[in-house]
Amino acid sequence: MKLLSNFAASSHRLTDLQLLRDADVRTAGALLAACPVMLADAGEIVSDAHRPRLTIVLRGALAVQADGEAPGRAPTVTAKILPGESVGEQSVLDDEPDPAILTALEPSELLLVGADVAWRLIEEADGVARNLLRLLSFRIRAANVQLRRRQKLGEFYRQLSMNDGLTGLHNRAWLNDMLPRLLGTARQTDRPLSIVMLDIDHFKRFNDRYGHPQGDQALRMAAQVLACALRPTDYAVRYGGEEMMVILPDTCGSVAALVAQRLCERVRQAAVFTDGTPLPHITASFGVASLAPGQDEQALIATADAALYRAKSAGRDRVEVDGSAAASIPPAASAA
Ligand code: GH3
Ligand code: MG
Ligand code: MG
Repeated sequence: MKLLSNFAASSHRLTDLQLLRDADVRTAGALLAACPVMLADAGEIVSDAHRPRLTIVLRGALAVQADGEAPGRAPTVTAKILPGESVGEQSVLDDEPDPAILTALEPSELLLVGADVAWRLIEEADGVARNLLRLLSFRIRAANVQLRRRQKLGEFYRQLSMNDGLTGLHNRAWLNDMLPRLLGTARQTDRPLSIVMLDIDHFKRFNDRYGHPQGDQALRMAAQVLACALRPTDYAVRYGGEEMMVILPDTCGSVAALVAQRLCERVRQAAVFTDGTPLPHITASFGVASLAPGQDEQALIATADAALYRAKSAGRDRVEVDGSAAASIPPAASAA
């Protein structure tokens, strides 16, 4: 930056400065008279990382770039400071250097006001404190709006990353995060918890026969069946491929077996449509397991998986519970 003059010798008017609007300009003028007016070239960084100060734009424009950007990311411009506006008020108030980076967007004339002069302005020039409060209040409000927007966006992307794109069910990332917590709650509250694993029967054949998009449609239908048949406190997850899982908190094995039977029937009965054309019905096999003392999530899933495997071996389109063949549904004619 190049020193042009002091404020008294410059042609700029006090009344054009936002901070001095309707304020005591006589006192302010006397305080600002000796403050330097600097010329910054376009692209020049003008912030001072070591001393708190007020920077007032007299001509040109400044870009404010937030600090704390992730390494390697292009810094985002959070605000543009235009003639009459100022930046750095907060650094003066809390006596901390401003970590934001200020860059001249074009050749700019800047009035630099040190913290001592800025404080005298606040204390001695009537109206400056009021203007400052108004300005800070406006900035806090704008920052809050931005924060809420970011939170919403963050929540949106979090949801997106926790849901399966094809079926809309929770995905594996969600399961890895949530299942240990749900198990923890069940243990703490001494309540039962059951899971149901299901796998679509002969799905490879279904794909081969009717096509992958039709297979996708069948998966969506199965997911829909789960989503519609469960209580709001239950969870449906796409475990992977054509395998899904239902988590039933507060549910013992015998009730979970009934739920699984109901799901088995509904999957068998639900019609798969593509472009309005009905395809043959699909079936699925189900394995039910309930949380046993000392069991972790892997062991619980392995138990349900073993039951599912038995349901497959026993002829598919049926439910098997934990170790015992507690519930078997006679297989119906399936598509494949
Ligand atoms: P089983 O009754 O023993 O489960 O037989 P299966 O044919 O269902 O089992 P297998 O593991 O041999 O085949 C699973 C098939 O599921 C193969 C794969 O293409 C299909 N599949 C997995 N994910 C998707 C998907 O997202 N969309 C479609 N259309 N098919 C999928
Ligand atoms: Mg299968
Ligand atoms: Mg499978």
